[in-house]
This record gives sequence, C-alpha cells and structure tokens, in this order.
Amino acid sequence: MLYTTTEIQLKGIPLSPGVAWGRACFYSEATPFLALGHREAVDEAGRLHETLTWMVKRLEALAQEAEAKLDSGMADVFRMQRMILEDPNLQQRLFAFIEHQGLDAERAVERQLEQYQIQLQALETEYLRQRAADIAEIKQGLLDHLRRATPFLRCKDVAHCEMGECRLKNDHIVIASQLTAHLLIEADGQVKGFLVEKGGGHSHAAILARALGLPVIGGIQHPHQTIPPDTEILINGDTGKVILNPSAKTRHRRTRQVQPKPPRIGPIPELQVMVNIDTPADLQEALTVAAEGIGLYRTETEILMKGRLLTETEQEARYTEVVKAMAGRPVYIRLLDLGADKAAPWLRLPPEENPALGCRGARLLLSHPEILKDQARALARASIHGPIHVIYPMLTDRDQFHKLRALFDSALAGLPSETLLHGIMFEIPSACLQAGQLFQEIDFGCIGTNDLVQYLFAADRTNNHTGYNALLNHPVLWELIQELAKTAQATAKPLSLCGEVGGNVHFTQKIIAAGIQVVSANPKQVFAVRQAAQRVILKN
Ligand code: PEP
Ligand code: MG
Repeated sequence: MLYTTTEIQLKGIPLSPGVAWGRACFYSEATPFLALGHREAVDEAGRLHETLTWMVKRLEALAQEAEAKLDSGMADVFRMQRMILEDPNLQQRLFAFIEHQGLDAERAVERQLEQYQIQLQALETEYLRQRAADIAEIKQGLLDHLRRATPFLRCKDVAHCEMGECRLKNDHIVIASQLTAHLLIEADGQVKGFLVEKGGGHSHAAILARALGLPVIGGIQHPHQTIPPDTEILINGDTGKVILNPSAKTRHRRTRQVQPKPPRIGPIPELQVMVNIDTPADLQEALTVAAEGIGLYRTETEILMKGRLLTETEQEARYTEVVKAMAGRPVYIRLLDLGADKAAPWLRLPPEENPALGCRGARLLLSHPEILKDQARALARASIHGPIHVIYPMLTDRDQFHKLRALFDSALAGLPSETLLHGIMFEIPSACLQAGQLFQEIDFGCIGTNDLVQYLFAADRTNNHTGYNALLNHPVLWELIQELAKTAQATAKPLSLCGEVGGNVHFTQKIIAAGIQVVSANPKQVFAVRQAAQRVILKN
C-alpha cells in the first residue's frame, strides 16, 4: 500500500529523541545499475574527468562536514585525500592509461592507484602506510562512482540529489533500511531526522545519533515501498510517532510539543554524573554541563569514521587534549573496542559467521598487539598531563586481563608515564561472575549495560525483535548490578555505570537503589539525570 496525501499516523520505535519535520528522502544502498551498452557509448576520458571532478568536490564537502560535526583532524584526512587526487602527475598517468593503452576508466583507476599503493606500502613507514590506506579509499570512491554504485539520496528523482547535497534545498527526513554511523556523519544540515526499518536503540549508530542530537525512529516496515518520495513527514523521536502529510495545524501543534528542558543543575552529592564522549570535539558540551569527568571515551568511534587507525602521535594529541580540558577531573579512556557492529573492514580480518561472539574487543586486541601497542604508548604519553583510567573492553575473565595488562606494560618499555589506572568493562556475564577476583587486581570497574543485557539474555542489541528494551527492567539484570556494586564496595574500588541506561531517567531510581554512585551519560542527558536523582533522594 502506498500512503498518499491524507494525514496518516504510523508508530515506530523511538531510537533517538527530538521532534523533526522534513520531506521524505530515500537513502539507497550502493547498487550498480549502469548498463554495459550505455557504458560503451560513453567517452572513457570524459567519464574519468567527470568522476575526478565529482570526487574532489565530495572530499571537500566531507571535510567541511567533519569539521562541523567532529573535529578538524578528521577534516584533514579528507583534504589530504583531495590533494592526492589533484596531483597533476597522478591525473596525467590515469589519462595516459586510457589514451595510450586503450583501458576503460575503471581499469585505469585500478591500475594506477594500485601501483601507487604498492609503492607506498613498500616504503614501510607508519605515515606512508596510512597514506596507502587513503589511496585505497580514493580508489574505491572513484570506482563506485564510475560504476554508479555510490549510495545516494533521492527526494524526487535520482537526478536531484547526491549524498550531502539536495538540489531542491528541502529539509529532509532520510528513510533508510538501516541506520549506520556513516549515514549519520554524511548527513548534511538539511537532514533533520531519520526513519529506518532496522536497528535497535542500543546500537552504536543510535548512540551516535543521540550524541549528534538527530531524532531517529526505527521499526517502520517497508518505507521504501509505502512512502512516496517528497512526502512531508513529522517524526517524534521521544514517542516513536510518525505523521505523514501532517496538516498545517498538526505540524504547528506537534513541533511545539517538545519535551520541556530540565533546569541546568550542577553537580549534586546524590549521584556523580560523568559523560560519554566520542572525540575531543565533545569536550565543549561536557564542560558546559559541568560533567564530573569523562566516564567513557569511545576511542573506536573516530577511527571507524575515518576508516583507518590513528597513529600514536595522533592518539596522544587527542588524549592529552581531553586530560588537559578536564583539569583534574577523572578521565576514563577505553582501549579500542572493535568488532561486531563496530566492524572495521579495512583491518581485513577473516570473515566470521557470528561476529557478536567473535574476535572483538579484548580478543581482537590480544590477537593484534600492534594496535594495542600504539594506543598504550599514546595513553602513557598523555598521562604526563594528568591521571588516566584505562578501560579494557569486552573482557571475559581474569586471565584475559592478565594477558592484556602484560601486553600494555611491555608496550611502554622505556617510556616515561605518570598515573595510569587499569580497569575493565563489566559487560560479559563471565567477568561479572568473576568480579570478586577481578576487583582484587583491577583499579576500577565500569558496567556496560548495553552489551551486558545483550550477552546476559542472548538478545541482540541491534535487533528490534529481541525484546531488548523490556529486558532492561529484568530483575536478573538489577540483581547482577547490585552484586557488582557490593563487590566493588567490599574491595573499595570505584565502580561506574556507563551504558545507555545511565542517561535514561526512567532507570535513575533503580541505579541508585542498586548501590551505584557514579554514572556516565550522553552530555545531553546530564541535567535530566541530576534532576531525576534529586527527586529519587527526596522521595526516600
Ligand atoms: C556498553 O556496552 O554498555 C558500553 C558502554 O559500551 P558500548 O555501547 O560502546 O558497547
Ligand atoms: Mg559495550
């Protein structure tokens, strides 16, 4: 059924809060569709020229978006790729393959950029290896465009839009089968919100959407088939309500029905509230809400966006910036937590049948000590500016902690460092069951409820059909959290809770009742959490 022009209400699953209005704009995954006959008729040099011009423009647009949304370090990567692409020597060689060897544009790109990559890889310095990864990205971008396999946005017809550029200048509600971090980061200022088919509120992409303040609703069935392009859409990411073709009256009423903002409340004695960040660009917001520390710095987010690892120096710069900005308040930085829905295909790890139970988090670090080494050294260097709590992700048991800790320490050989504290995420049931022994050795613990619920109840956090949200209230979860709090207290070790429930005011009472005294939440939730905590204490 196609929803036509009358006002229609749909109910979805709220994934990221906020009210937004815009016109339906469809995100299509990459699907090559250029017919072969058509391709032969086109001049290959012309195709290459058009593609190079498009790619240069796109890289600059990405750089500007990255600057606005994350940080200038990420923008530099796109600008560096643009410089490589604009190199006259490179372009000359590309065209020579077409003109003198009769290759088509795709093959010219493959040949020339692969040669370039091999030359760089052979030079074997870290910096140049990273440039080789840039070449791989450029090559893929050019090939996708030549094959018309690039994902695109469509509000009326394909000709009107490309990612990040709406020629109709509409405000958009983007409709996609799945919410991804890339889609979020590429969305331009005209994208006001998202409607998606798949995706849970505890997926990493949903967490990022909340951090970016973009409303998202999931669980909308077959939107590509049922919602005509350009339909006006009103979404409420707090309730999951979607209104298609809203009348002027409805639109006016709903857009004004925004949740009242909680008062600005500074630190309170009842509950210490730290914040979760993805990059140093989030520090400003952390300081604005008077965060009592950085409770979780997800260091993997930025590298997933960039599609490459950061060098030791780049990492050191970021960690130092965070430590300095927090000026003595606690800083918890997590070792790279890669794998499953934080997959880094560019690491070229062997494919897995079941990545959520595969080589991820601590396991991935153990199998790739070189990744851990760079990060450990960067953390040690940054610790000169202030103490750092190092969080070990996805830890299963004591033995794994010993192995990771030994690798961490051996990476530091000869490096001066100051206070580095070592703790773990409690997000896998086996680690929780061994908490008594683990707390004898670790300096602190962090409860990651997002994954803990997933593994405790075998309920995929990215799937809307596992009843994940209801499980957040399950008594087994709260008994386990209470046990962890008791164990931490008995060993006098700090314990915080940094999963999404930490920022959800519906759980503040349960958190305090379980004996948790420190949470870490999205900066946008800090005032509301403090307000909820004050109410809980008043009631008791
Ligand atoms: C968690 O699992 O609760 C957590 C905080 O880590 P992440 O959401 O990054 O997996
Ligand atoms: Mg986790």
